[in-house]
Amino acid sequence: MTEVQISPAIDGEWSQVCSHMRDEIGDAAFESWFKPMSVRSVEQGVANISVPTRFMRDWVVNNYLPQIQALWSALNKSVTDVEVTVGNGQSGGILARATARNAQAANPIANPSAISQTASQARTAEQLGAQLDPRYTFDNFVVGKPNEFAHAASKRVAEADIPPFNPLFLYGGVGLGKTHLMHAIAHHMRQVHPNRTVVYLSAEKFMYRFIRALREQKTVDFKDQFRSVDMLLIDDVQFIAGKDSTQEELFHTFNALVDQGRQIVLSADKSPSDIEGLEDRLKSRLNHGLVADLHATTYELRLGILLSKAEQLHVELPTKVTEFLAHKISSNVRELEGALNRVVAHSQLVGRPITLETSQEVLHDLLRANDRRVTIEEIQKKVAEHFNIRVADMHSARRARSVARPRQIAMFLSKQLTSRSLPEIGRKFGGRDHTTVMHAVKKVGELSLHDQDFAEDVELLRRMLGGVG
Ligand code: ADP
Ligand code: MG
Repeated sequence: MTEVQISPAIDGEWSQVCSHMRDEIGDAAFESWFKPMSVRSVEQGVANISVPTRFMRDWVVNNYLPQIQALWSALNKSVTDVEVTVGNGQSGGILARATARNAQAANPIANPSAISQTASQARTAEQLGAQLDPRYTFDNFVVGKPNEFAHAASKRVAEADIPPFNPLFLYGGVGLGKTHLMHAIAHHMRQVHPNRTVVYLSAEKFMYRFIRALREQKTVDFKDQFRSVDMLLIDDVQFIAGKDSTQEELFHTFNALVDQGRQIVLSADKSPSDIEGLEDRLKSRLNHGLVADLHATTYELRLGILLSKAEQLHVELPTKVTEFLAHKISSNVRELEGALNRVVAHSQLVGRPITLETSQEVLHDLLRANDRRVTIEEIQKKVAEHFNIRVADMHSARRARSVARPRQIAMFLSKQLTSRSLPEIGRKFGGRDHTTVMHAVKKVGELSLHDQDFAEDVELLRRMLGGVG
């Protein structure tokens, strides 16, 4: 094979890919992984990148390849594949070579390009939707108590010939696996029914497509396209709450598809009833299908996920470290993955084994952030103690200022210090409405501005609670 000279254009494309990646993964990770890479050639649609070590190659292939590929082909359509080679391209380096195709070939579901789709179906799905992440498959999803219902419902939908429930509505906090499950459904469907058009995209993207269609006066095309897909998956629909015309359009698309017996899958960070700014008739349609939630992870699930990810990375994680991570990084799966990646990367870069001590060191900032997370119950208790009232008054209907004010402060702090939504906070305060919580948050903010003593009280409590853990 002859080497092709690197043209300035290719270099330019590569630096654009790099700058996107830097934004995406942050400076530190970029310096570790992307700095040492260089482009060697682009030949017959395959871009070849070289890295200094085998470990780096595996890491890049496992963690960044789909993104690099997607970015590159967005810049230059003729680049359809990216391969990563170890070394400087002299013979020998070639032996240790992995391409996206090779890396994913073992798992056909994980490789959308290996799935034969009729060209036109694939094109429609790609034009309308977003690319699927090849790692987000059912095989790679660890099932535990908090997600077993959502997982089972997703599997049913993926395997069914006619929609078992329509829509399937998945909801839960960030990083708990909604997007992963949606991609898994889409991968499966495309694999089993290559000639069906399966379109996945975020609600945000749906909105921008719609706005563009309006501007270009192509709404008829837009409607036709979306109403003729076989399966439509829209992620993060909370985004279009309050965006009336987009909601309207989604509602009609939704009705048209459901009427034709096409499956719709939606996700959001809250249940349909808790999303503010969503029209009632849309809510009621959403509630018509199956609503499945993903709960916060448990210790067991986190352990399971760590074991599975460590296996995928081919690293041996000491039991103590696994337990430590599962115990300490309890926020969500995305952070847990990030923590594991950091620990592994560090150990490989400095060439020392993973230990509890180094893990603590490498993760000190993350650990602090996770420690700082308090629960609403803790906040209620601390605030009640501080003002010398009963914890029960946090839930009671009493309106006397002596209890109402501390209750408002506790609501304010719950909003500030936890990731709970307003409706969730309301429920924890004796089933109050989210507008009550909103009012409390506003009130405490106002009082703090005008009353120095009050502001200090709140700040003191905030700091005391911030130190918990
Ligand atoms: P969400 O869309 O709910 O914010 P994601 O689906 O993006 O969350 O998940 C965040 C990350 O955690 C992804 O990399 C995903 O693969 C991973 N993840 C979440 N849940 C699981 C699980 N049960 N098993 C394996 N990986 C998971
Ligand atoms: Mg998501």
